[in-house]
Amino acid sequence: RVVVVGSANLDLVVTAPQLPRPGETVLGDDFRMVPGGKGANQAVAAARAGADCAFVGAIGGDGFGRLLRDNLAAAGVEVTGLRTVDGPSGVALIAVDHAAENCIVVAPGANAALTLDDGDRDAVAAAGVLLLQLEVPLAEVTRAAGWARAAGAAVVLNAAPARPLPAELLDLVDVLVVNEHEAAVVAGVFTDEPAALLDSLVGLVPRVVLTLGARGAAYADRNGARVEVPAPTIDAVDTTAAGDAFTGALAVALAERGGLTGDTATAVLRWACAAGAACAQRPGASTALPERAAIDALAAA
Ligand code: ADP
Repeated sequence: RVVVVGSANLDLVVTAPQLPRPGETVLGDDFRMVPGGKGANQAVAAARAGADCAFVGAIGGDGFGRLLRDNLAAAGVEVTGLRTVDGPSGVALIAVDHAAENCIVVAPGANAALTLDDGDRDAVAAAGVLLLQLEVPLAEVTRAAGWARAAGAAVVLNAAPARPLPAELLDLVDVLVVNEHEAAVVAGVFTDEPAALLDSLVGLVPRVVLTLGARGAAYADRNGARVEVPAPTIDAVDTTAAGDAFTGALAVALAERGGLTGDTATAVLRWACAAGAACAQRPGASTALPERAAIDALAAA
C-alpha cells in the first residue's frame, strides 16, 4: 500500500486574453475548478496506476473541501486520514492568458494546519511506501518520515516546491524524486549537468531519481549504480501534473517490487516515464493523470 501525507488544493482557473497588471481588471472567459495540490495529485496518480492508496491531509469545512474529498474518494483513494480543520481549504488562484502564460497565488489554508496524530502513525506504519512532498509543514513531513522509517516502510520524498532540506529529514529518505530545478536547490549546487546533480545528491540520500522532462529520467544510488531512461516520444499537449503522474507511478512500482535498486531502476523509471508522458498527452492537470492501462501501453510502445 502507498500512503501519501501531503497537500490538497482546489485550483480556481480563469483564462483571459491577457493577464491583469497591478490595479487592472480584465474580463476573463472560461472558469474551471480543478482539484490539485501535489499530495492529492500524487495519491490520485498512485490509485489510477493501480495501487491501494491512502491520503493523509487536511481540508477546510467549506464547499471546496467537499469537492477535494469527493475527488479523492472517486479516484479510489482511502480518505479516513483526511481531516476537516477550521478555516478555508487550500486554494490556488490561477490566471492563464491565451499564450498559456500564467500567474498563480496559492493560499495554503488547511494544508498549513495539518497536524499528525497517533492514528496517522498507524496508517503510515502500515504502508509499504510513504510518499511525501513539501506543501505541508516540514515538521509534519519529518514526523511522518520518522514513523515510516521506524516501521520499515520506504520513504519517497518529492522535494517540491524546491527548498533546501535539513539533514534531519534527508537522513530519513530512501528515494528522493526531483526535477532539475529542485535537484539544484536541494543539492545547493548550480549546474545543469544531470550527472553532477546526481553525484551531489547521492551524498545526501541513498537513492535519487531525477526527472528530465521530455528527455526522460535518471537514477543514481550510493552503490554506484547510474541509469538513464529516455521518455516515450509523444505529442505533448499539456505537461502540467506530468511530474505528479511520474512520482505517483514510481511509488506504485516501488510498493509492488518492494524497493528500488540499480537492477530494477531501468524498468521502474521506464514505467514512471510512461505515466508522465501519458499525462502530458492530455490537456488538464489532475484530470489528465493516467490509468494503469494507458501507462502499460506507453511503456510497452
Ligand atoms: P516537473 O513537471 O515536475 O518539472 P518533468 O517536466 O521532468 O517534471 O516531467 C516529469 C516526467 O514526465 C518526465 O520525467 C517524463 O517522463 C514525463 N514528461 C514530461 N514532459 C514530457 C514530454 N514532453 N514528452 C514525454 N514525456 C514527458
